[in-house]
Amino acid sequence: MTAGKVLTGASSHRPVEWHAINWKQVHGNVRRLQVRMVKAMRAGRWGKVKALQRLLTHSFSGKAVAVKRVTENHGQRTAGVDGVIWETPQKKGQAVQSLRQHGYRAQALRRVYIPKGSDPTRKRGLNIPTMHDRAMQSLYKLALDPIAETRADPNSYGFREGRSTADAIEQCFTVLSRKGAAQWILDADIQACFDEISHDWLLTHVPTDQAILHQWLKAGYLDQYAYHQTQTGTAQGGTISPVLANYTLDGLEKRLKERFAKNAKVHLCRYADDFIITGLSKELLENEVQPLVVQFLQRRGLTLSMAKTKIVHINDGFDFLGHNIRKYKGKLLIKPAQKNVQTFLTKVRRLIKANPQVPAGCLIMQLNPLIRGWVTYHRHGVSKATFSKVAHEIHQALWRWAKRRHPRKSLSWVKNKYFQTRGQRQWVFCGFKPDPTNPQPIQLFSAAKMPIKRHIKVKGLANPYEPQWEAYFERRLDLQMKNDLNGNRKLLHLWQSQVGRCPLCAQKITRQTGWQTHHLRWRMNGGDDTSQNLVILHPNCHRQVHNRSLSVAKPRPLGR
Ligand SMILES: [Zn+2]
Ligand SMILES: [Zn+2]
Repeated sequence: MTAGKVLTGASSHRPVEWHAINWKQVHGNVRRLQVRMVKAMRAGRWGKVKALQRLLTHSFSGKAVAVKRVTENHGQRTAGVDGVIWETPQKKGQAVQSLRQHGYRAQALRRVYIPKGSDPTRKRGLNIPTMHDRAMQSLYKLALDPIAETRADPNSYGFREGRSTADAIEQCFTVLSRKGAAQWILDADIQACFDEISHDWLLTHVPTDQAILHQWLKAGYLDQYAYHQTQTGTAQGGTISPVLANYTLDGLEKRLKERFAKNAKVHLCRYADDFIITGLSKELLENEVQPLVVQFLQRRGLTLSMAKTKIVHINDGFDFLGHNIRKYKGKLLIKPAQKNVQTFLTKVRRLIKANPQVPAGCLIMQLNPLIRGWVTYHRHGVSKATFSKVAHEIHQALWRWAKRRHPRKSLSWVKNKYFQTRGQRQWVFCGFKPDPTNPQPIQLFSAAKMPIKRHIKVKGLANPYEPQWEAYFERRLDLQMKNDLNGNRKLLHLWQSQVGRCPLCAQKITRQTGWQTHHLRWRMNGGDDTSQNLVILHPNCHRQVHNRSLSVAKPRPLGR
């Protein structure tokens, strides 16, 4: 089968061989259609946009990418009401063929409950669509996201490619830190946003296939064995839901800009359904801004929670996305929010307590990613003091853990067994990686060691679907990976030597996609572990290489 046949094989009944798919071509096709969509939209040619959307949602390439997305993300092992998961290449191949519009019916969602915050007794409901419905949503998301990105509010940061909480926090700094900056903040909370969005509003306004959207919205859900209808809202477990939610809330920033003069200092900063609006005075926010917001939301079936929405002065500060933002004697400081610190420490303590008998190395392997993740999230603020405090608390918990293990031993014996001096640092919690053939020493990652780094905010108009921004996003990813892989020089070197791309499919390798190392000359054929013999590939691409015994060439950096 030639590559051309594979791509046009959408309507053929020949089985799709998952590992025979040419991913470079498939991703290229999807990308080209998306870029054309945005171009047509900019030119105001909506008929053309619609035609391109239809082309994408009916294409083999679009379907293959959709199945890839839902079988690669972390929900890949969570089944919907039909209990089906696509874990083999055969099932994935069949899945690509099963994505058809004609006669499509969405199944009910499966209600699951996950712990909320650090308290295990509080649970949050989540509605999970079947794999098939998730893949359909992914397919239509490919065709909707370019449109959503192009009309998005510049200061919306949640669930968007190339944007993050760090950008949202940096934007708060920009609009609040200066001397003449706004002093009042409307800290808004939308009541059950995802659950309440009006179906009528979505069906009339979202540019996507209405019959299909209708299927998702009205699917209802199964809790235990009882069926419930869905009258409003969009399933939080759905792959297209974040785009729908953003689409619903976009336009508020523009509305505020039109309504208020520059000297009113009205600025919106939003992350998904969480947002703040700054303003010159309390009265302005109370009497003019808030009513405008209420009216905007009302049309979309949404309301502000009066209990949680408040207007605060910058000297009293407020919490936003796990950070506390507040002015101290005229200076704006952003620190980890008290509540966020407590939740994190509770999680750490619970983990330590739950593992009273495991070897120290095993505990370190579980703790390190947790600690590193948390400090990475907060490393852009004024967090040094909090990091030291957190490191101290974790140390205390581990000391108690060690003493409890050996009640009959002396304290100095316990100290010598688990804690060592490393360079300048005393009392470093140490162990061995739990690998019997190769027990490498490993030590606890210290929260206090995390360097604080100022984050540079993404440009408001940068669009991942427009070619002129491509180099810009690449530079940002480069910087991000440099920070993320700082502790792993070898990996960073590999990533950079292949310009951040997978040699097989030519797509970017990021934290979200994940990666695996592959030996160019297989180890069983005498290949070694040096950088010259290693490349990193996406997990799925890596499986394809081994499945088809493909040989991979180390990509050459461009223009260097
Ligand atoms: Zn790849
Ligand atoms: Zn390999």
